[in-house]
Amino acid sequence: RALLIPAVFAAMTAPAAQLDEATVQAKVAALLAQMTQEEKIGQLIQYSQPGAETGPATRSDVAKEIRAGRCGSILNAVGAEQTRAMQQLAVEHTRLKIPLIFGFDTIHGFRTIFPINLAQAASWDLAAIELSERIAATETAAAGIHWTFAPMVDITRDPRWGRVMEGSGEDPWLGSAIARARVHGFQGDDLSRLDTVLACAKHFAAYGAAQAGRDYFTTEVPEITLRDIYFPPFKAAVDAGVGSFMAAFNDLNGVPASANRWLMTDVLRHEWGFSGFVVSDWQSVKELLAHGIAADPAEAARLGLNAGVDMDMEGRIYGPQVADQIKAGAIDQRRLDEAVSAILAAKFRLGLFEDPYRYSNEQREKETMLRPEHLEVARDLARKSCVLLKNENAALPLRANAKIALIGQLAHTTRDLLGEWRGRGQEEEAISIQTALEEAFPQRVTYVEGVKTMGPDRSGFAAAIAAAEQADVVVAVMGEGWFLSGEAASRTSLDIPGVQAELLHELRQTGKPVVLVLMTGRPLALGPVVEDVDALLLAWFPGTMGGPAVVDLLTGKFNPSGKLPVTFPRNVGQVPIFYNHKMTGRPIDPKDPDYRFRSRYVDSPNSPQFPFGFGLSYTKFDYSKAKVRSKTLQPDGVQQVSVRLSNEGKREGTEVVQLYVRDVAGSVTRPVRELKGFQRVTLKPGESRDVTFTLRPMDLAFHHADMKFAPEAGEFEVFVGGDSTAPKVGGFEYRE
Ligand code: BGC
Repeated sequence: RALLIPAVFAAMTAPAAQLDEATVQAKVAALLAQMTQEEKIGQLIQYSQPGAETGPATRSDVAKEIRAGRCGSILNAVGAEQTRAMQQLAVEHTRLKIPLIFGFDTIHGFRTIFPINLAQAASWDLAAIELSERIAATETAAAGIHWTFAPMVDITRDPRWGRVMEGSGEDPWLGSAIARARVHGFQGDDLSRLDTVLACAKHFAAYGAAQAGRDYFTTEVPEITLRDIYFPPFKAAVDAGVGSFMAAFNDLNGVPASANRWLMTDVLRHEWGFSGFVVSDWQSVKELLAHGIAADPAEAARLGLNAGVDMDMEGRIYGPQVADQIKAGAIDQRRLDEAVSAILAAKFRLGLFEDPYRYSNEQREKETMLRPEHLEVARDLARKSCVLLKNENAALPLRANAKIALIGQLAHTTRDLLGEWRGRGQEEEAISIQTALEEAFPQRVTYVEGVKTMGPDRSGFAAAIAAAEQADVVVAVMGEGWFLSGEAASRTSLDIPGVQAELLHELRQTGKPVVLVLMTGRPLALGPVVEDVDALLLAWFPGTMGGPAVVDLLTGKFNPSGKLPVTFPRNVGQVPIFYNHKMTGRPIDPKDPDYRFRSRYVDSPNSPQFPFGFGLSYTKFDYSKAKVRSKTLQPDGVQQVSVRLSNEGKREGTEVVQLYVRDVAGSVTRPVRELKGFQRVTLKPGESRDVTFTLRPMDLAFHHADMKFAPEAGEFEVFVGGDSTAPKVGGFEYRE
């Protein structure tokens, strides 16, 4: 991965002298000993770059605080010039010259924008995801920034919540694997390198479990579900060495995350051994007042800091109040010292004491952004992220000489390609589907917008239909505008917005094959739309290179390989719907005379529109000879599951082979099945390969009623295939 940095940058990106941990701790202790109480508290305070904040500060207010040593970090300062100017205030004007740490939301790319995170998860390609984060880190660091507020590792089971786009979907196993890949991608092995940045696992915890899918709303999640479902990606991030955590906004079982000592200290530090620092979410310590758990700012400060939230993001709560509370004995001096030490240690590891300006280099900044190899990786990841959900009548790939009617606002808007959280990505730098398609089919594409993403305007329908009538095939690009997904973008409907689906239905009446390219940041309930199209390619929000990537798939230059990391419901009423649900005492059995009293709906099937793990290819894969190696598994043993995968089609293709396991009877009820392994396998036409998975006893572990984490003796069923409805291929007994 070091190869991403060309030789000319070698000198500029040379790591600082890497400090071993003992040296870091010794330097921290020595510095701490020289600090006044006010200087210590200052390290816990983070302000937003003036102009970006919503608070009352002016440029001079924040500058004054920095010069006075009452600020340890800035978020949203961007660019070598701006970060250097702010750093100067800290290093040249304060008594102890402690550098600021600059944080920023690099979520799915900084300037080169990759597909949204949920889309990346659909690639199931850990190496490609890790590489994208390394590129994101390289560009972020070249803009003077040391720290990204990513990865977002919240498990998301409710597509009404707008932030499903930022996560890796519904599964803790896949989510944990991706969390590790992202942390490695951002941080590498040496934080002092200039192609890495400090990572931040967020939002701890259960932010995605908001009631009714409404952002910032209450969560009530039993401890056993927290531990089995919501915690694993956070634990994986800790194990991968993540340097910081962010406390979530939400109330969790009666104690908001930002005041939740059990979460931030007992679980995170004591159980998991996390030794980095925790930042609040934007004003989330101040919001303890609105939550109704703190009566005044002093109480909010006490609750937040005592819970284990080290840094206060833009809340202006950790100020003199902390000093007063320490004086009053309500906050322990050791707690303050611990928080300061963790923040200082990160600054040492980043090499900021050696050279506080090392990230702020205009030449590197200019030469690092949007490099051709960055764009190529973005295009590759976008292709791997798209999911082919339907392909009938050989609608795709498009024939080489096809006359195409291209319809829909999203075919030409580039802002939508980038999605929410686009860092410093510019829409002018993104390539639209229209541009890429016209390049691939010169003189063969007629573009008619036909319909906007939102609103009731049908005035463009006639022109769109006329274009369709003249064409061999219709390519409609429809879905959500970028602003419908992301923070504060919860929806009560999962429909394709506006009248887009109506136009699609009318296009269908022309009798021409209809290909829908669907852009969205969340699972949608597509309903009749699925019947109205011959082919359906889910493109999500595919990033700067989204247009060329989608066209690579439409033309067949690249074979779709993505698989859903999240269930697509039939209708919003099925939500929450996810594959690893519990059994019921009354499962559906159509032969049962008591069918009425089964766990079901009277107006909808239970099954989803598209299951977790699902995705088609232009070739056909066959599974055979599945085998569970031994009938039993012992505590010190391993189990092997193998299957033969064959490419029976005419094109090379990549399949994500998935392994699921079911614990038949446990001391607590267990999910109907759980993902326990996956492999991306590329096969030439006619080629076969044996794919083998290894299961260890701890892969079968879960939390018991007493929160013990261990496997239990008994029967296990095994399923292998191309999605979460994969057939049972055998079973074994775990014997203690
Ligand atoms: C979001 C965080 C983000 C922070 C800083 C908050 O509103 O919840 O995810 O890191 O803002 O921009």
